[in-house]
Formats: sequence, C-alpha cells, structure tokens
Amino acid sequence: MDTQAIYFDNNGTTALDQRVLETMLPYLSAQSGNATSRHIFGRSSRQAIERAREQVADATGAHPSQVIFTGSGTEADNLAICGITAKNGFEKIAVSAIEHPAITRAAQSMKAHGVVIESIAADTQGKITIDALQDLLSSGNDDKSIGLISVMLANNETGAIQDLASIAEIARKQHAFVHTDAVQALGKMKVDFAELNVHAMSLSSHKISGPQGAGALILDKRVDIQPLLLGGGQERGLRSGSENVAAIVGFGAACELISRELIQRIGSVRQLRDQLEKGLVKLGAVIFGHGADRLANTSFFAFEGIEGETLVMALDRKGFAVASGSACSSDSTEPSHVLMAMGVDEDLARGAIRVSLSNVNTAAQIEAFLLVLEGELSRLRRLTAIAV
Ligand code: PLP
Repeated sequence: MDTQAIYFDNNGTTALDQRVLETMLPYLSAQSGNATSRHIFGRSSRQAIERAREQVADATGAHPSQVIFTGSGTEADNLAICGITAKNGFEKIAVSAIEHPAITRAAQSMKAHGVVIESIAADTQGKITIDALQDLLSSGNDDKSIGLISVMLANNETGAIQDLASIAEIARKQHAFVHTDAVQALGKMKVDFAELNVHAMSLSSHKISGPQGAGALILDKRVDIQPLLLGGGQERGLRSGSENVAAIVGFGAACELISRELIQRIGSVRQLRDQLEKGLVKLGAVIFGHGADRLANTSFFAFEGIEGETLVMALDRKGFAVASGSACSSDSTEPSHVLMAMGVDEDLARGAIRVSLSNVNTAAQIEAFLLVLEGELSRLRRLTAIAV
C-alpha cells in the first residue's frame, strides 16, 4: 500500500520484514509440493516446514516436537482451550479477565458442553494477582476442580506482563493444566516455554514481522488434546489441512530474526515509548497500567472528555495510524473489557487509544505525533465546548 501515513499499530499487525519475504518467495513463485506428497516437491516442502519448526522452537525455548502449526494465533488459542478441555473431560476451567476474545469466546463456547467458566480477576494495573488465582483455586461452591487455566503472557492493550512462572507453579500444585497466550509477548520480550513451565502456549506469525496465516500451539506432549479440524492428519493428527508452506517458512524466518535481534529491538522501542509517554503526560493523558511491568513498545492511554474513536479518526486524517481499544474488536463500541476489569471509569475507558511501536519507528515520528495530538486535542475540546 502506498501511503505516507505513519504506522503506530504494531500490536494489531506488523509489516512483513523484507528478509522474511525473501525466504518465502521461492515457495510462492516456483512449483511447490504438498508437504504430505512423497515426491521431490513434497519432500522439499516437508523439509522447509521442519526447518521452520526448529526455528520456532529455538526462539521460544521449546522442542521442535512440541510445535503444532496452526493458521493463526486465534486458532492456537481455540485449539488449546477447547481441545484440552474436551479431551480431558474437564468440568471447570478458568481464564483471566483480560484475555483476548480468542480465549474468552473459545471458553464461553465450552459452556454448551456443560463446562463451568471462572474468571481470574486483574488488579488496577492490569496484573493477575497471585492472591486472586489462589482464592479461585481454593474456593469453589461446587465439587468441581479447575482442570485448565489460561492467562496471557502480555496483554495486547496495556502491554502488562504477567508473572506466568508463579501462576504456573500455583496451578500445577492444584493439578491444573496451564495455557498462556504469548501472541503479543513473542518478539517483544523473552519467551521461554520451558522456563515459564506452562503446558501450552499460543503464538502468531504476523505480530513478529512474519506473514499473516501462520501460528502455532506449543504443547507439552504429555497433555492430551482433541483436534479442532479432522482430515488428512497433518501436524500429528492435531491440525488437519494442507500446510501453508510459504507462511510457515516466513514464520520460522521471523522467529530466527527475533532470536538474533530481540535485545536491540526492545532497547530501541523502549526509548521511543518513554519519549512518547513523557509528552503524553505533559498533555494530561492517563496512561493505563503505567505501574505494571509492560511490553516496551505499548502505550495505552486516554484524555478525559475526549472520545477514543473520534481521536483515532482525527489522527488518521493527519497521517497517524493508532488503535482505539483492541484492534481485534474495534468494530465494537463497548469500552475495553480489559479496562473494565482494571476498574477504570467507563467514560475514561471510552477514550482509550493505543500506540504500539516497532523498531522502524523513529524519534522524529514521535515528536511529530505529539505536536499533531496537541493540536487535535485543542480542536476537539473547542468543539466539545461549543456543543455543550
Ligand atoms: N491473542 C492476542 C493476545 C492477540 O493480541 C491476538 C491478535 O491481536 C490474537 C490472540 C489473535 O491472533 P491472530 O490475529 O493471529 O489470530
């Protein structure tokens, strides 16, 4: 797309890294085989997928045999929640109050099968507290125990990072399986499946400068799981369907880049985010989850009396692409469920704007953004004053 606009919506999706594109091109431009075929074309696709599996595993502290490729992060989340719950016959599961709809809606769908869904509360900074989890695991007004808990590693809206290793330790003591949605964490912080000590972890390619159309569930092989898709038995029978070879190859290449560049990427975006938030505070913004350990690229904020959608559109007209609330559910006018779980006032929550940076953004872009934002805020406040 040919536009001069500046892109500040990297938690929504990222630009495809040119180096990733290069690795994908041969699988898009030449004859490629179905990875299940025995001939040379099929074997070459199979080899490419297995190489990508190693790259994903290397970047996430997993073993290649634990990587199940899916078509998206959403599919990995659905597979984890529905597949583990159904296969193990769990009667009760718990998901945190700040999860992405790929988790909450998958969990809700299990209600139809008689599964009880509990919510794990967040504090005012968007953190899942150990106390809230402990209370939930030890309480219960029925004799059903919680079979699976799901808590995301980093939140897509606030960027708040959860203490997953402690959460997993507590859950394991109660014999519950633990899943984490690491879709936003990957590429923005260290993600290590073995260290986190969880049973399952979801990933998505297009959040890390890889292509859309690939994701993965990292799964401890001792966990029984039921596939969502039935057919040719690809991915050890857990995800039937001919593999999207080019997208998987791109996902692997993007993971390899993270392994090499993570520290430098985090450092550069943190500087930009700090510059941005200094300016935002001067303009009177409330920054959500400010006191929490957060992803270095994410800033979620609001200005009292200014509607988020209106400001997003105004900024778009001035050439800045930012998100209001969660990009994945931006067709909804409801205030963010994440902010509601944090106890934020509903009116203020309706003003929420998210800036999510990448290492291609620059200090000059932040400076220009703050100037435009100041102008738009004054204009919108004048308009509001006239309307009142
Ligand atoms: N989980 C989180 C935390 C996300 O932010 C997103 C997308 O924004 C998803 C899951 C869904 O991933 P995908 O877009 O690959 O389906």
